Amino acid sequence: MTESQVLIEVREVGKVYGNGVVGLRGVSLQVKRGEVVCIIGPSGSGKSTLLRTLNALEPISAGEIRVLGESVHDPRTDLNRLRARLGMVFQSFNLFPHRTVLDNLMLAPRVVSGVKPERARERALALLAKVGLADKADMHPGQLSGGQQQRVAIARALAMQPEIMLFDEPTSALDPEKVGEVLDVMKVLASEGMTMCVVTHEMGFARAVAHRVVFMEAGEIVYEDAPERFFTAPANERLRAFLGQVL
Ligand code: ADP
Ligand code: MG
Repeated sequence: MTESQVLIEVREVGKVYGNGVVGLRGVSLQVKRGEVVCIIGPSGSGKSTLLRTLNALEPISAGEIRVLGESVHDPRTDLNRLRARLGMVFQSFNLFPHRTVLDNLMLAPRVVSGVKPERARERALALLAKVGLADKADMHPGQLSGGQQQRVAIARALAMQPEIMLFDEPTSALDPEKVGEVLDVMKVLASEGMTMCVVTHEMGFARAVAHRVVFMEAGEIVYEDAPERFFTAPANERLRAFLGQVL
């Protein structure tokens, strides 16, 4: 695999918050084009911090991050351009409540990328069909279930035609019976070759979909492995203890 296919390169990254809390210490991670990497670990272990540093939502204290060939924390990097190439989906859906579903999908392509209204609309409708919500285009987010809203949020991120998708616990706020419909959409994306970093507690999803699973604890990447070995015979005592609690 050539160097250019490494889309995310995190090198020895440290992050100390203003209040002195250590968010990340010595974190290194590579993600190649088409890879799905799941990140698991206890609450407070730095998973969200790591994801947020990838598109410079969070400054770092040490190390370097390159995404899509750009040095993320270099002040010369055009962050708006970079962020347009990185889709992000959060636990809370963050849709614009006063806009229709269709408008939610059309806004960023029109405003950020200057896509013509007709083209933006076409693409938005196609994406709604893809996430199974073609009939919800004219509704407002508040009229939808949590699972439907999260599928809209995924479609909205895809509307920018990102090269990488970042997910931070996308199903953690959902009722249990709505989790599957969101994971199914993510599975389709993965099968289409989307490069994905997914913070999740859904071990079944990680095992079935991830190419690699990363375990974080106390701001560090403690262990990473292919899913099969990660979940059945991890060569790490702390991960075994964690899995013993959650599985
Ligand atoms: P996770 O997503 O794995 O639950 P986080 O990345 O949110 O963990 O948090 C890692 C550590 O950084 C925790 O100790 C958390 O309390 C701390 N932290 C997170 N965000 C902030 C912040 N904005 N200010 C100060 N400390 C923070
Ligand atoms: Mg988190």
